[in-house]
Amino acid sequence: MSDYDFDLFTIGAGSGGVASSRRAGEYGAKVAICEYSRIGGTCVMRGCVPKKLLVYGASFAEHFEDAAGFGWEVAEAKLDWAKLEAAKANELDRLEQIYRRLLRDSKVELIEGRGRIVGPHAVEVDGKRYTAEHILIATGGWPSLPEIPGIEHAITSNEALDLAALPERVTIVGGGYIGVEFAGIFNAAGASVRVLLRGDNVLRGFDTEIRERLAQEMEGRGVDICTEVQVRSIEKKADGSLSLFLDDDTFHDTDVVLYATGRLPASKDLGLEAVGVETRERGAIVVDEANRTSVPSIYAVGDVTDRINLTPIAIAEGRALAETLFNDNAQIVDRDDVPTAVFSRPPVGTVGLTEEQARARFAAVDVYAARFRPMKATISGRNERITMKLVVDRDTDVVVGAHMVGEDAPEIIQGVAIALKCKATKAQFDATVGIHPSAAEEFVTMRFPVQD
Ligand code: NDP
Repeated sequence: MSDYDFDLFTIGAGSGGVASSRRAGEYGAKVAICEYSRIGGTCVMRGCVPKKLLVYGASFAEHFEDAAGFGWEVAEAKLDWAKLEAAKANELDRLEQIYRRLLRDSKVELIEGRGRIVGPHAVEVDGKRYTAEHILIATGGWPSLPEIPGIEHAITSNEALDLAALPERVTIVGGGYIGVEFAGIFNAAGASVRVLLRGDNVLRGFDTEIRERLAQEMEGRGVDICTEVQVRSIEKKADGSLSLFLDDDTFHDTDVVLYATGRLPASKDLGLEAVGVETRERGAIVVDEANRTSVPSIYAVGDVTDRINLTPIAIAEGRALAETLFNDNAQIVDRDDVPTAVFSRPPVGTVGLTEEQARARFAAVDVYAARFRPMKATISGRNERITMKLVVDRDTDVVVGAHMVGEDAPEIIQGVAIALKCKATKAQFDATVGIHPSAAEEFVTMRFPVQD
């Protein structure tokens, strides 16, 4: 019997923390998890899940428009935003209860309150001290906003998910995952949306062609994308609307300004310095590949380590830690070929290297691309194109990158990611029979590379 209260004490009941704690509990470890906010964390309560429900909700606008071309007479469709929000809130309540039940089923003790590390084996929650052989920090991240005059009038994704009414005009600062996803939601729901970028395009780090195509599709749907512009200040007017003053000496008025300018690791006020847990720039906790911090009994997983900030990675890291500590099964998370999707309108799916990364890494690269009008758009009359792209190392014929912008891209790329994980060659893609008629079949029917 150990002298500690718990074998594992986890701070943060989000995706990584819950996954790790449950797995540890299932192996018989005595586990506690503390959380000061809602159980489920960013992904379930303030991110992926509510965001995707809003994407679904807002996307019906396009379905109603498309239906007309197929002979449907649809009376004027109108979104009751408050109803959508209420339905979403109900679903989150349901999920939170499921999370609580899952923790109970795995015999994980839930302690509600803010945890602070007070020793290599000790955590304090609301004045009560608990000891544990191992401590896991899984506190995630939090939106980061630049310090400009009037920034207090801006909202973040946290508030954007819970707006009581749909604003008429929304200005979004930042064109990363969150910026383009909310642009799609508000645009489809009927708001007038403007995206302000400090750089020259959305989704920095993604394949250049994919970024360009997404921006074109967003603009085609009516999103106004302004590049190379920064907000200098924000002023609130008497009627509650906002004026944004930009660094090109122009200004514009809006009803809501959403800052989606990145997230910071939530590592403040955890007592890290006092106990000697090393952090790097932006407050990210330094860990090795087995998620160990600089203090041997303390570990960290997920966004608080600022590596690949995606839910499935946090879950994989959390489970790997539990396997290592409590199942004598040392595991290291494989970070190659991690697929990701952006639930923009239209969505993006991507896995592996961008064309630019592949050209920097390999002597010769072949690029295969398809750009076409989806069958549904022929009759619906929607002016939209799907773009797909394969990046191939010419010497080995291995497909090293697959990218797509268009309906169902996340669903399609998930399957393609298996092929990349198996190091499939272009010849094997070609030998795969397509499913007809589908958009996905284009990934196995691209015959000739595009010219260098
Ligand atoms: P990102 O880092 O993806 O994008 C930040 C955006 O804000 C970029 O366009 C960046 O410009 C811009 N920016 C940064 N600082 C400033 C500034 N001071 N002024 C103006 N613009 C600025 O962050 P997000 O907030 O969109 O998302 C955070 C993370 O959350 C993502 O990286 C991802 O890991 C995760 N996430 C994943 C999702 C998914 O899997 N579908 C969904 C949502 C979030 P520039 O390009 O010039 O750097």
